[in-house]
Amino acid sequence: MRFCVVGAGLSGAVIARTLAQCGHQVIMVDERSHVGGNCHTERDPETGIMVHRYGPHIFHTADERVWQYVQRFGTFRPYTNRVKAVVGGHIHVLPVNLLTINQFFGKTMGPQEAREFIASKADHSIAQPRSFEEQALKMIGPELYRAFFRGYTLKQWGIDPTELPASILKRLPLRFDYDDNYFSHPYQGIPEEGYTEVVQNILNIDGIKIRRNCSFESMSDAFDHVFYTGAIDRYFGFRIGRLAYRTLDFERVVMDGDFQGTAVMNYCDEDIPYTRITEHKYFSPWERGNFAKTICFREYSRSAGGNDIPYYPVRLVNDRVLLDNYISMAREQKNVSFLGRLGTYRYLDMDVTIREALHASDMIERSLQSSSFSLPVFFVDPN
Ligand code: UDP
Repeated sequence: MRFCVVGAGLSGAVIARTLAQCGHQVIMVDERSHVGGNCHTERDPETGIMVHRYGPHIFHTADERVWQYVQRFGTFRPYTNRVKAVVGGHIHVLPVNLLTINQFFGKTMGPQEAREFIASKADHSIAQPRSFEEQALKMIGPELYRAFFRGYTLKQWGIDPTELPASILKRLPLRFDYDDNYFSHPYQGIPEEGYTEVVQNILNIDGIKIRRNCSFESMSDAFDHVFYTGAIDRYFGFRIGRLAYRTLDFERVVMDGDFQGTAVMNYCDEDIPYTRITEHKYFSPWERGNFAKTICFREYSRSAGGNDIPYYPVRLVNDRVLLDNYISMAREQKNVSFLGRLGTYRYLDMDVTIREALHASDMIERSLQSSSFSLPVFFVDPN
């Protein structure tokens, strides 16, 4: 059979490999000049440093299958994401942990004392938080919320935290010990030669032809089935409107030596226009000493326009209504499946993206072995 995979990111690569392994022909298209989607990495020509071109990506997972899978295609070096934050002219550590609490309030509390102290700050009248702000007030109280979350979130989402869903904050832990690991997953790492090499290795199998710099819209070939990992609203030519995304602008800074002494520095104050500065040689500590220069990116978030790269799906009420309509339109389609971050309009970490693509691959393999080939339009419910 002849398959098309639209988009050369993680979802597309995993699916394309499965199809090729089953002995089928795959045309993969991507309008960019490289594979890897938004986790693309490349060596910066001026400094030699491996740069995460579309923002930093740190791989973390609790899923044994996903961890084993990615390691077949690259050497993952141990890496622990430890984030620093500038708040009101002081440096703090994130996620909020015992050091953050003690430094911020000028105290020397132990875990139990700090737990009681934060409980005394928390708003217990909020039973079921309906917004980001309510979730924060219930979890950490007003001072920490205003210092670390309100300004940053306004900049990141361009929306008042009273309007944002509580789920965004639930991504972050609150700790009453000195553990400053940003993630709670048992496996965490960054590939030694970058993510693009990992994706290239996934795709390095007979049967896959990659067309770079090529849009799906410009193709006229016939396929038995299309796996579409592009934006779902774009598939339909934005016929009933555009789903809202946040996009990022990166301001490049190159200098001799070091800039900030760490990989990620968040700027939580509302009056500083960027959300964070990332210093990319710190994402590869095993080779950091090789570089005389350093390269950093200031990250600015804004609403995505028609020609901008979509990063974060906004998913507020209006978007959900529009998404529902696109989902209904998609369910009418024949021989196409939508998957991945853009195909299902969901914020997905890399490990979840791969887990879902592996789950889809299981279904694809079963279907290819059965007498009647048939696949769902969605492998997971995009709602
Ligand atoms: N956040 C914040 N201050 C910070 C870091 C995060 O207010 O210093 C909020 C912000 O709204 C962000 C959310 O917490 O979107 C989730 O943070 P995470 O680090 O998971 O952000 P992402 O991976 O989406 O960039």
